Amino acid sequence: MHPLDQLGSFGGGAGVAARPFGQLRAGERQAATFGRAKQPFSLVVDLNEDMFSRTWWRGFGTLTAIVVALALTAPIGWEPLPSTNPEKISVEEAEQFRDLAISPAADGARMGGQMTANSHVEPVAVAPERARLELFARLGEGDSLDRLLVRNGATYVDAATASRLVAGAGGQIAPGTSIAIVLGRRGADGKRPLEKVRMRAGLDKVATVAAGAAGLALQIESIAVDRTPVRVRGRAGDGLYWALRASGVEPAAAAEYLRALAGQVDVGTIAPSDHFDLIFANRRAATGESQAGPLLYAALERAGQKPVRMMKWQVGGRIDWVDADGGGQQVAAFAWPVNARITSGFGMRYHPILHFARMHKGIDFGAAWGTPIVAAADGRVTLAGWAGGYGRQVRIAHGGDLATSYSHMSRLVVEPGAFVHQGQLIGYSGSSGLSTGPHLHYEVYRGGVAVNPMGVKFASRSALEGANLGAFKARLAELMAIGGKSRS
Ligand SMILES: [Zn+2]
Repeated sequence: MHPLDQLGSFGGGAGVAARPFGQLRAGERQAATFGRAKQPFSLVVDLNEDMFSRTWWRGFGTLTAIVVALALTAPIGWEPLPSTNPEKISVEEAEQFRDLAISPAADGARMGGQMTANSHVEPVAVAPERARLELFARLGEGDSLDRLLVRNGATYVDAATASRLVAGAGGQIAPGTSIAIVLGRRGADGKRPLEKVRMRAGLDKVATVAAGAAGLALQIESIAVDRTPVRVRGRAGDGLYWALRASGVEPAAAAEYLRALAGQVDVGTIAPSDHFDLIFANRRAATGESQAGPLLYAALERAGQKPVRMMKWQVGGRIDWVDADGGGQQVAAFAWPVNARITSGFGMRYHPILHFARMHKGIDFGAAWGTPIVAAADGRVTLAGWAGGYGRQVRIAHGGDLATSYSHMSRLVVEPGAFVHQGQLIGYSGSSGLSTGPHLHYEVYRGGVAVNPMGVKFASRSALEGANLGAFKARLAELMAIGGKSRS
């Protein structure tokens, strides 16, 4: 039996059906081989097949004839085609290119080459110096004009004089201000005199100190400034803070607005359809810059509820928020006594260890050991000392029938009988008394009874009277006349 035939029937005598893919049976293969010999005569031959056979030599002959014919008929004087990079660079040039190129250090970058003087370079005895120096410097945070001038080559005397002149004219140079400095020709003492220094010395003026016949002199150019307050109104949307920020309110004013509001409404109940309305002081220079000032008016219009409208007003030597609708009643908003999150609220609380419910008469703030604690409102200290399970405690009476207490403190910094202002430091948090860890236990009393500190919102103090009330209403009308940009 032919070996290929055997291969062909491999896998069982079923013949064609069992034949592996791509194999010919012996008879077919023989027919294919002999079939090529019977192909018609052709000059075009595949030179890859049947090497050195008669057919192959015929194909080779054809190819040679074509090449010779081409070479003989080619025109003389053909230029070679230009390549993409005809320049030849030397090894030195290649190294310089590599030094100038930016490539990763891991790929062998050398980060710049060094040039050394060669025979064409001659040393000079004296290098000529620039007669005048023109410099620009930017004032950094916490830096001062005189220090900046000295650093840039001015003498101490010139720097101090220029700084004094600018400050004397009420010039306030904000950090980030660009300062142009011109230093003159070096004198006999080797120092360069200050010729000119020019900068923006505040929103409303440009200050120039220039050297004249009588030494350094100041010149102020005024820039017109519009001081109309800016009013911003819009929808609270999903988040009041970001709605304010999106309306162009600066972070400080937005935070102040929310603080003022927190004393009047439960911030958690503000609906997306509620509208904010605030006015803040603003200065806009004719050159385009503007500077936002403090918040002057804060209001919240609520769907189906009484709007909250407050204006800042000076009462008894202090600037306070005053209720615009309540006939000029001062708003006694309680501030948070500590900068910490609430860990336990007011109300019935189930004791996890003793397994019974008891009343939690205050709010717990999870303040770390030593966190400053401040008075929630103005008042007189009635107790500052040990109070049994409350540990070190401060109690403050706020007038009316309101009082607050601050417990478990580690250190007290007020004396009984002292008068404290809202936000004034009274002590530091701790874990004194019956306490398992550092926290502040804060209680608010109305008529001696502990009430929910979150509910003390509309407590009002004395109302404005007489001429003061008249002035308050006039200012309010003035502010309300400002048309503001509105987003809704
Ligand atoms: Zn507590």
